[in-house]
Amino acid sequence: MINVTKSFLPPKEEYIKYIDAIWQRNWLTNNGPIVNELEQKLKEYLGVKNLLYLNNGTIAIQIAIKALELKGEIITTPFSYVATTSSIVWESCTPIFVDIDENTANINPTLIEKAITPNTSAILATHVYGNPCDIDAIDIIAKKHNLKVIYDAAHCFGTKYKGKSIFEYGDISTTSFHSTKLFHTIEGGAVFSNSDELHHKLSYLRNFGHNGQEEFWGLGINGKNSEVHAAMGICNMKYINDILRKRKEDSLYYDARLKGSILKKPSIQANSEFNFSYYPVFFESEEQLLKVQKYLNSHLIYPRRYFYPSLNLLPYVQNSKMEITESLSGRVLCLPLYFELTKEEIDLVCKLIMQSIQLK
Ligand SMILES: *Cc1c(COP(=O)(O)O)cnc(C)c1O
Repeated sequence: MINVTKSFLPPKEEYIKYIDAIWQRNWLTNNGPIVNELEQKLKEYLGVKNLLYLNNGTIAIQIAIKALELKGEIITTPFSYVATTSSIVWESCTPIFVDIDENTANINPTLIEKAITPNTSAILATHVYGNPCDIDAIDIIAKKHNLKVIYDAAHCFGTKYKGKSIFEYGDISTTSFHSTKLFHTIEGGAVFSNSDELHHKLSYLRNFGHNGQEEFWGLGINGKNSEVHAAMGICNMKYINDILRKRKEDSLYYDARLKGSILKKPSIQANSEFNFSYYPVFFESEEQLLKVQKYLNSHLIYPRRYFYPSLNLLPYVQNSKMEITESLSGRVLCLPLYFELTKEEIDLVCKLIMQSIQLK
């Protein structure tokens, strides 16, 4: 069986060493030494000013919205994982969808201005598949209309834009370290902000609002992560360059194997260093995708329709027609891409795709 993804696992002995130390200390969570070490290592590796390690990437978006005190309408993309939209609704704001650019699959900045109303407080955009949004255009619009910007950078570990970590952009950037992501800590996430004031606020939002044991800076939630999770992160950090290199190598191998086929791929933002976190392909029609998916499944290969469905179709949002996203989400399939995937497996996946496209 070949799945769309398979979590990277470090050698067990390396992880057990950390687990033994955790047992010795009997310090399991609450700003422990391993959490601190992971935060430090991540900051150095990514070259970011501020980072807070959290229990998941969804809480990261929610505390970003809280920290910026967003109200009313938030302009967002319908082409993302459900957590992007659900977090907006969870925080009692209204998602206003803006369609994507067909070539990049990211929010189309030229459509943003038309969606701005007196109730708009922010733009929440996803760097889809690890491919940076049109950050410069979004920045200009946000400044002009005095809007905050949050980037859901859940796919972006290792991505750079104009020589800097992608996490450095926006008022706040969020990411996920879930097991299915390129870099993971089993469950986990992080928030990034270059503003020290916001960073401080995010840090107490993460910890119930505590200011010491008996005082509170303000409202908070439990966004902390544990020593056991952080230990997985530290073990995985050791292999991160191998993981990134393998992703790139496999992606280029797929490219070569699928050359000349009708399949299209998103175009990568200029001035960026892409992390190859997914291998999405766009079919000509949903019918064609379903045919190929069925054929692959019959050979025990399970790519994933990601992202599907378009988020404007969720039962708890106001539906507005999003022509490009609805079309694209019906036609996109993420092919298997993970550390242990072999070239023979890629050959097989590609051969079966080509065969089934030709089948009547
Ligand atoms: C994975 C993901 C999230 C949610 O992250 P969790 O850590 O699973 O909560 C949010 N947005 C996007 C785009 C994602 O891919």
